[in-house]
Amino acid sequence: MSDRLPGFSTLAVHAGAQPDPTTGARATPIYQTTSFVFNDADHAASLFGLQAFGNIYTRIGNPTNAVLEERVAALEGGTAALAVASGHAAQVVVLQQLLQPGDEFIAARKLYGGSINQFTHAFKSFGWNVVWADPDDIASFERAVTPRTKAIFIESIANPAGSITDIEAISTVARKAGVPLIVDNTLASPYLIRPIDHGADIVVHSLTKFLGGHGNSLGGIIVDAGTFDWSTGGKYPMLSEPRPEYHGIRLQETFGNFAFAIACRVLGLRDLGPALSPFNAFMILTGIETLPLRMQKHCDNAKAVAEFLAGHPAVASVSYAGLANDKYNQLARKYAPKGAGAVFTFSLKGGYDAGVNLVSKLQLFSHLANVGDTRSLVIHPASTTHSQLDDAAKIKSGAGPDVVRLSVGIEDKEDLIADLEQALGA
Ligand SMILES: *Cc1c(COP(=O)(O)O)cnc(C)c1O
Repeated sequence: MSDRLPGFSTLAVHAGAQPDPTTGARATPIYQTTSFVFNDADHAASLFGLQAFGNIYTRIGNPTNAVLEERVAALEGGTAALAVASGHAAQVVVLQQLLQPGDEFIAARKLYGGSINQFTHAFKSFGWNVVWADPDDIASFERAVTPRTKAIFIESIANPAGSITDIEAISTVARKAGVPLIVDNTLASPYLIRPIDHGADIVVHSLTKFLGGHGNSLGGIIVDAGTFDWSTGGKYPMLSEPRPEYHGIRLQETFGNFAFAIACRVLGLRDLGPALSPFNAFMILTGIETLPLRMQKHCDNAKAVAEFLAGHPAVASVSYAGLANDKYNQLARKYAPKGAGAVFTFSLKGGYDAGVNLVSKLQLFSHLANVGDTRSLVIHPASTTHSQLDDAAKIKSGAGPDVVRLSVGIEDKEDLIADLEQALGA
């Protein structure tokens, strides 16, 4: 082997995987087992006491899932990762390590609709208070900081309009406030943007979307950048204080730059329980092998579709950061030079009714609530994903009544454009 560092496409295929040591199987096997036999009593005790790494029980870790964790950590440039059952589970597990009841976190207002719900309602019942800020107004993050702030949460490419967030500017605010920056990198994937290179301390994903990529398996992952010092000011007791669950171990002291990933596993996943099925890990790993090919095609198709829509007389406006005249084009050139993703919105001159009509006429685009599938998808956020918001909040989060969201797939772009043309004209 040369001492060349492997490139992104090589890591997408190989990182974390070895031929199976007992059978020689080249694809990563699905270790469909709940539990693992200990060598002896001492081995069992050392695994339970966190003195040795190894498999105990699939709720805490599994060899198929471990390959997925190592692969995504490599692609994101982190020190370690933890796979969980869904993107939402990743968000719960991350914040559980950071917040005590009564604490606050600041979140960008432009987020996946489900995250807005989760933060507003479910997290409130845990005593975790979200404070909203505007990703287009960096000062609004600074103004939101209080002594109880424990984290900042943003999306790199934000749902639903595909706007690009200035990660470096917000990471500067987080550093100043002494709190970690969490970036949901679902819509970009590490092929387009690596948030850790821009100052993120923790990256989360819904693996359900572009990483898995085929619309067939739910999953989520947490990547630890290894950059944050958890010992400052006793603000993060889960990481800095002795843990009674583990004979008084202090996680940061013991595990250093991957202590956060360990906390998520041994305190979060172990006790909350949202484990990823090894079968789903296998499906998602297979998806990741073609991530660079798929993601480039998604972006190239999205750009062609956005250009077509921008020139169509029934379309009032298109929000796609890959268009030269888009508000976010400068940020797209900086953060996502290979392409601005495949999820974006456009608005129709005919308003709400025209949006509903378009969705019903499209044939190749599937009308459903997902993104990041090989297939092209369409949804009218105001009547679905963002319907729980009031009108003002809908508009603020980019989901006004006349807005339609696309997730452009990897079909032939000519066919996608022809489908939109017939649906818009009809
Ligand atoms: C889908 C999605 C989530 C939630 O992920 P699940 O796997 O559905 O739980 C979170 N963030 C973004 C940006 C998403 O697109």
